[in-house]
Amino acid sequence: MVARAKPSLPEELFLERLPSGGWPSWGVVYPSTYEVGSSNLGVQYVCWMLARMGARVVRFFPGSFPRSLEGNLHPLELDVLSFNVSYELELLQALRFLDSSGIPILWRERLDGEYPLVMFAGALASLNPSVLLPFADAVAVGDAEGGLLERLLGAVRERAGSSREELLLALGENPSAIVPLSPRRARPSRREALLGWPSCSLWLSPRSAFGNSLLLELQRGCAFSCPYCPVPRVYGRARFRPLEECLEVLGWARPLVPGPLRVGLLSPEAGCYPWLWELVEGILRMGFGVSFASLRVDTVKDPFFDALRAAGVRTLTLAPETGSRRLRASLGKPFSNERLFEVLRRARESGIRRAKLYMMVGLPGQEEAFAEEVSFLTELADLCGGLRMPVELSFSTFVPKPFTPLEGAPFWGVERAKAFFEELRRDFMLSTRGGAPLELKLASPRESALEALLSQGDGELALKLYRAWREGAKPGKELWELWGEARSRREWYNLVEPA
Ligand code: SF4
Repeated sequence: MVARAKPSLPEELFLERLPSGGWPSWGVVYPSTYEVGSSNLGVQYVCWMLARMGARVVRFFPGSFPRSLEGNLHPLELDVLSFNVSYELELLQALRFLDSSGIPILWRERLDGEYPLVMFAGALASLNPSVLLPFADAVAVGDAEGGLLERLLGAVRERAGSSREELLLALGENPSAIVPLSPRRARPSRREALLGWPSCSLWLSPRSAFGNSLLLELQRGCAFSCPYCPVPRVYGRARFRPLEECLEVLGWARPLVPGPLRVGLLSPEAGCYPWLWELVEGILRMGFGVSFASLRVDTVKDPFFDALRAAGVRTLTLAPETGSRRLRASLGKPFSNERLFEVLRRARESGIRRAKLYMMVGLPGQEEAFAEEVSFLTELADLCGGLRMPVELSFSTFVPKPFTPLEGAPFWGVERAKAFFEELRRDFMLSTRGGAPLELKLASPRESALEALLSQGDGELALKLYRAWREGAKPGKELWELWGEARSRREWYNLVEPA
């Protein structure tokens, strides 16, 4: 028998060391790979805050490591396990982690036993806590920094030695927590101003999705309200970190990071940050490299192209969502294809070598706009062929999200989404005879179907879905029926106060 090699620990540079002692012991779990979890600033903030508040923090990335990175601990050895679930499918990974660790996945089955307290937080907790209820001892809704994490930690400490039930009831007194033992509506916790600490990465690793970049949070929440997008609901109104403070943070980090440093600017849309150009200038003056998140085409202004050139950025990411101007406007993005083409042209002149565009299939009314979608691709191919700029078009299947104006829109399903995409690709290839510098990709519609089920389903559905998923089964008719019922009940609406 061949012994399985122990996965090698990632190379990491901490800006502040996590203390090895402290109480209680708290496992921060990101239910995915190290690459994904390590690039999540929310996870880094939670680790940093808990460590400064005196807890013993250990990190779990079950997609890469079966035990904790710190101390090689088994999950059963911890007092608390908190899961950050940013994306619906990560719930299934979280349940598998509990299951394979010998921890009952249902909170009721943990009442009589020596198990860690299991909490769920992250974007899914704000959007649809009802899918978490059968599994969580407590669901934390909103920003950890709005006093939420501190109060949860306080309750765990105060109730040490009490029965599990008493502890759960104490957690339920927190207005931003939902405790299934005594569920009631939660008010999302908010970090009202983006000022002070924490503001950037706690650790850097070449293995994280953004490489060795120091992530700096410029903005939380969004000033736009695109009717398909859950960001305003999850993170609230737009708050910006002041320019001076951004530069101060970077000045503090500079001596802590040996060698060249790249700063990853985090915001829902980098073009919305009011002092972007001044910030990029400041970053370059300090000798750092810089990278941006995806950009909203109608917020790109002239200085942005100077910023691209000065920073030596090579790839531009934009999210036009669709080739139909009318559909795009209905999604809250009222810019024309010509404006998009102009941005690509200017970006190419500023040194950009390739572009990535996020697109969707399955939008309401998209089948009627099929001819517009094909002609958009053909025009884009002409433009990018002339510019010698390869473009990746990354399509995903539209999933209606709770608390958005499109929450009641239909989900197309796997076969219809695939058929539309294949027809689009075929017509486009015919019109360009296959010689265009565009690459069209469709993210797994099956994963989008799971995402749809979990985005508005309830706990009963989540449990059935988990069991089917574990066995490798496809979502069946019965699950779609449960989804339809849960969707009409809108249980999530009753569990979280609307904004
Ligand atoms: S799609 Fe972008 S601009 Fe629109 S609401 Fe979401 S984050 Fe804001």
